Amino acid sequence: SHELRTPLNAIIGFSEGLLERVDRHPLNAHQVDRLSKIKKSGDHLLTLINNVLDLAKVESGRVEVCVSEIEIAPLIDEIAALAEGLLKDRVDVQFRTDVEPLEGALVSDRDKIKQVLINLVGNAAKFTEQGHIALSVEQDAGYVRFSVEDTGVGIPDSELPKIFEKFHQVDQAQHRSIKGTGLGLALCKSFASVLGGTLSVRSFEGDGSTFTLSIPLRYDEERQATQEQLVEQIKDRCCRSSVSLEGQRVLCIEDDPTNMEVLIDFLDQQGFQVIPAFDGLSGLAL
Ligand code: ADP
Repeated sequence: SHELRTPLNAIIGFSEGLLERVDRHPLNAHQVDRLSKIKKSGDHLLTLINNVLDLAKVESGRVEVCVSEIEIAPLIDEIAALAEGLLKDRVDVQFRTDVEPLEGALVSDRDKIKQVLINLVGNAAKFTEQGHIALSVEQDAGYVRFSVEDTGVGIPDSELPKIFEKFHQVDQAQHRSIKGTGLGLALCKSFASVLGGTLSVRSFEGDGSTFTLSIPLRYDEERQATQEQLVEQIKDRCCRSSVSLEGQRVLCIEDDPTNMEVLIDFLDQQGFQVIPAFDGLSGLAL
C-alpha cells in the first residue's frame, strides 16, 4: 500500500502546492485548469486505492476490529461537521440529526462505524439537490440502527440488488454525471458484516433513499469469529458438493449460518445442490 500511496501523494501534494502558491509562481488560466485536473484525478485515484486496499483486507480476513466504548453524541457531531462542509454551497439541502439516547453503552469499532457513516452521508450529499439529509440513531433491542435518509434522486428497483457490488454504479443520467468509484457501498457492507451487523437500503426512484447500518450494541468477538468460520465452511462445502442433479438447485437465503447449515444438511440428504446466500440482496442477485 505504501508503494501505491507514496507516488500518488507526491502528485497530489505538488499539484496542490503549485495551485496554492500562485503568488510565488504565477500560472496562466490554462495551467491552473490542467493542474486542477491532475489534482482531482489524483484524489480520485487515492480514494480508489484506499477502498481497494481496505476491501482486500476485509476479504482476506486480515481486518482488525478495534473495540472501545463509543460515545454517540461526539461521533454524530463529527459526521455533522463533515456533512455541513459538503453541503456548504447547497442552500436547498438541510442536514439534520436525530439521536435517541441508548440504554447501555455501544461497544464496537468507532473508526469503522465512522467510515461507513461518512460514506453514506457523502453519497447522500452527492445525489441530493434539494430537501434534506437526516442522520438518525435508534436502538432496537440489542442492536443500534444508524440511518441516513435523503430526498435525492433515489435508486431504481432494478438496480437495488446490485449497488453493493464492487465497482457497480447506477447507469442512469442523474447518476452517471456524478463521479465515484463504485466501491464505497461494497466496503460499507463488508464493514457492517465484520461488526456482526447489516447494511440495508430502501429507495424510491425520484423520492430519495435510506441506508441503514444495524450493528450489535456489544461487539461479540467470539461469536463473530465462529460465525465467520461457519460461513467459510458452508461456502467451501457447497463449492465442493458433488451432488448436482440437473434442474434441482435450491437457493437458500438465510443470514444465520447455523440455520443455513441445518437447511443444507436437510437438502443435501435429498440430493439437492444448494446455493447459499447470506443476505436478501445477494439472494436476489443470485
Ligand atoms: P460511488 O458513490 O463511489 O460510485 P458507492 O458504492 O458508494 O460508489 O455507490 C454505488 C452507486 O450507488 C452510486 O454510484 C450511485 O449510483 C448509487 N447510490 C449510492 N448512494 C446513493 C444515494 N444516497 N442516492 C442515490 N444513489 C445512490
